[in-house]
Amino acid sequence: MKIVVMGAGISGLSTAIAIERLAARQELAVELVVLEKNSRSGGKIFSIKEEGYMCEWGPNGFLDNKPMTLELCAQLGITDRLLRSDDNARKRFIYAADQLHRLPENGPSFLRSKLLSWPGKMRLAAEMMIPPKRDGEDETLANFARRRLGSEALERLIGPMVSGIFAGDPETMSLQSCFPRIYQLEQEYGGLLKAMIKLGKKKRAERKAGKQVASAAGPGGVLTSFSGGIQELTDALSQQLKGEIRTHSGVTRIAPRAEGFLLSLEDGSQLETELLISSTPAHALAEILAPTDKSAAELLAQIPYAPMNVVCFGYERKKISRDLAGFGYLIAKGEHRHTLGTLWDSSIFPNRAPEGQVLLRSMHGGATNPAAALMSTTEIRQCVMDDLRRIMGIEAEPDFVRIFRHERAIPQYTPGHAARVAQLTQRLQTFEGFFLTGNAFSGVGINDCVNASNQVAEKVIAELRKRQPPSLSA
Ligand SMILES: Cc1cc2nc3c(=O)[nH]c(=O)nc-3n(C[C@H](O)[C@H](O)[C@H](O)COP(=O)(O)OP(=O)(O)OC[C@H]3O[C@@H](n4cnc5c(N)ncnc54)[C@H](O)[C@@H]3O)c2cc1C
Repeated sequence: MKIVVMGAGISGLSTAIAIERLAARQELAVELVVLEKNSRSGGKIFSIKEEGYMCEWGPNGFLDNKPMTLELCAQLGITDRLLRSDDNARKRFIYAADQLHRLPENGPSFLRSKLLSWPGKMRLAAEMMIPPKRDGEDETLANFARRRLGSEALERLIGPMVSGIFAGDPETMSLQSCFPRIYQLEQEYGGLLKAMIKLGKKKRAERKAGKQVASAAGPGGVLTSFSGGIQELTDALSQQLKGEIRTHSGVTRIAPRAEGFLLSLEDGSQLETELLISSTPAHALAEILAPTDKSAAELLAQIPYAPMNVVCFGYERKKISRDLAGFGYLIAKGEHRHTLGTLWDSSIFPNRAPEGQVLLRSMHGGATNPAAALMSTTEIRQCVMDDLRRIMGIEAEPDFVRIFRHERAIPQYTPGHAARVAQLTQRLQTFEGFFLTGNAFSGVGINDCVNASNQVAEKVIAELRKRQPPSLSA
């Protein structure tokens, strides 16, 4: 059966591979075509090697505290290529009140830390006493943080976390859609500290009973990539896919047919398919669907994207006086800096800069600074140098500069997102054989994308079995 996947980012490629794997196991015949608008596959994943530096255009890795991407690597036979971040990368910093503070990893270091003031720490501890909000209303992350943790924790803990993952603004992001686990913890345990205590007790009891419990790799897991950069993952997917990947093949329109879809492509050609999966960004699918289903297109267009400039600066190590052992820093909300933070990429992974050099990768822009998308490269460079001077005391000009502009970097899950996605899913059920995946709906991390793709592949296989019982397959 003919299956087309639109988009060859991690979502589209991992969906295609999962379909082929599941179909082979069930002896179902599939003919897969992945249509990609761009000149290369990988989407946001792109590792650029120049002058001995390895610059990540988008993500620089995935976290190992969820199994999906690790399992995918095992299926692809590339586990031996994995590169775990340096132990020092556990040291993460937050810039607040003109200083870099190490992010505390446990209770005693939290008490010693100056990241929160004593009143701020006491307000956070008072979370235990705050009754849960169980009205089901979708509140913003900022409201949740103010209500449960206090405004200092919002500025110095939640704000940086939201800019680190979504380049987002906590004032306009949905708790339920961005951090469903945190929402659940309040619902189930009545609060976050209560949940930590109860879950901690449970873990200790399980360990005592000899059960295997998730590693103590820290709450966020270990950032993991490959020696050749995160692109090794999408390269392996592209190489191992039995189906065809057609680049320069942007889809412009979908016309439902009695048994499938007729796709129009940018070059004027057309293609028929029985099953169709979209993994394109929401705004791209909105344009594709606009002539066919205006309501679905409008729902998709309501998912905004934050712009971001990724700025790679290479320096001679000796020109930087501060200790670079660590992951890098994020900037607290309300500090009025240009950037969201800077990752010390050559400290995180060993081979990201030539001998004697370091690579710093700053994130500039985000939902709170949309003007960044309109700046010239000279202005962007100036903004980043200004922040590095102020925050890290770097006076030197960088020896190596690369600026990658993402006009629409990361989708923003605003309040009402889950309801909009449910409405959209219902709406699209009228197109029998159409499936939706990609980072615009249920998580932006690489693990989330792989997870969503595995789920959609299962649904595609169920549909295939309905249409093509194994006994009839080729
Ligand atoms: C700067 C940055 C840093 C990030 N850092 C991390 C990180 O460290 N860790 C992490 O886990 N996640 C990170 N993320 C998030 C993660 O990279 C993305 O969510 C993920 O890669 C998105 O994959 P995707 O396949 O869903 O979408 P995309 O990668 O956007 O792929 C969609 C594909 O669809 C194609 N397309 C568009 N229109 C059409 C059309 N009309 N027809 C056909 N094809 C079309 C596009 O060209 C693209 O290739 C980061 C993201 C950015 C931008």
